[in-house]
Amino acid sequence: MPFRIEEVQIDGPGPGEVLVQVRAAGLCHSDLSVLEGLRKRPLPIVGGHEGAGVVMEVGAGVVGLSAGDHVAMAAVAGCGRCRVCSAGRPGLCQAVTGARAEGLLATGARRLHLGNGDRLNHYSGISVYAEYAVVAAPSLVRIDRRVPLDIAAMFGCAVVTGAGAVFNSAKVRSGSSVAVVGLGGVGLTAVMAAREAGASRIVGLDIQPDKFALARAAGATDCVDAHSPEAVQHVRELTDGGVDYSFEISGNLAAVGLAQEVTARGGEVICVGVGRTDAQFTVQQMQLVTEERVIRGSFMGGGIPQQDIPRFAAMYLDGKLPVDLLRSKHIQFAELNHGFDLLAQGGTVRQILLPHGVV
Ligand SMILES: [Zn+2]
Ligand SMILES: [Zn+2]
Repeated sequence: MPFRIEEVQIDGPGPGEVLVQVRAAGLCHSDLSVLEGLRKRPLPIVGGHEGAGVVMEVGAGVVGLSAGDHVAMAAVAGCGRCRVCSAGRPGLCQAVTGARAEGLLATGARRLHLGNGDRLNHYSGISVYAEYAVVAAPSLVRIDRRVPLDIAAMFGCAVVTGAGAVFNSAKVRSGSSVAVVGLGGVGLTAVMAAREAGASRIVGLDIQPDKFALARAAGATDCVDAHSPEAVQHVRELTDGGVDYSFEISGNLAAVGLAQEVTARGGEVICVGVGRTDAQFTVQQMQLVTEERVIRGSFMGGGIPQQDIPRFAAMYLDGKLPVDLLRSKHIQFAELNHGFDLLAQGGTVRQILLPHGVV
């Protein structure tokens, strides 16, 4: 079901909420899976879950943010009170997951309405395919003004997920070998982060070899066609029997199998891509034990965006995470549906919607 561009109503920020002028919003594969009906969300809904903008107004009780601040808008925002939030894992917060399934903000409020006053849902607590957004304060991370807003937009999903998988979930060691299966925005960020972590060999795998030039620019030492019948053997030869860490970004089951097969004895598979809710994969039990294999899930970077995004932004400003490489082009509202067609064909990495026409 395509997006329709129309005027809607937005309330001012309630307690704990912030009104943001959205200046840039990325087109991500998980938006595409909603459009294609693979992930169910309550309709009608304003899409978009990675963006950046400028704070216009803060609601009662919001601390640490004020009008004029530049912010990245992150899809992870825990309640701050429950068991997992207290343990520093806001991405696992069940209260917020429940609010999202109902199309609400993390505060439990709905601030969007259709032109006739009927209800309109929030997507991932953000809804950035819009000129303005009201969001819960924990969805925002203040970001250094030296980071251009069209770059800052990619920190909320692609960058925090890819870099977080490497630094927080896997904790890649210097000198180790890494494979990244799926070279979109998240995968390319994982490649950059693996280089920064000191990985000595970084193998990029994708079914579209036209992504390999970008992967090499991001830091891949080798690239392998994931459709090639020799792909597994090729990676094993390059890495003395397989990689220490294999990141699976696509969520596709065949790719999960490939990620397992290219991993060495004692190595770790980090599953980052979200697949179908009913998908299952199998592991050989004997191999799991005798080869001390690890299979790990990593959701949205497995960290705390309030800490990670400023850290990754500093790495960007130091030239260590060249996120500019991910930006394919700017688009306007009229091109949004065409942009998702292009994304479905696999020909772009990150198209950035500019809701106000300019960054
Ligand atoms: Zn995303
Ligand atoms: Zn929580």
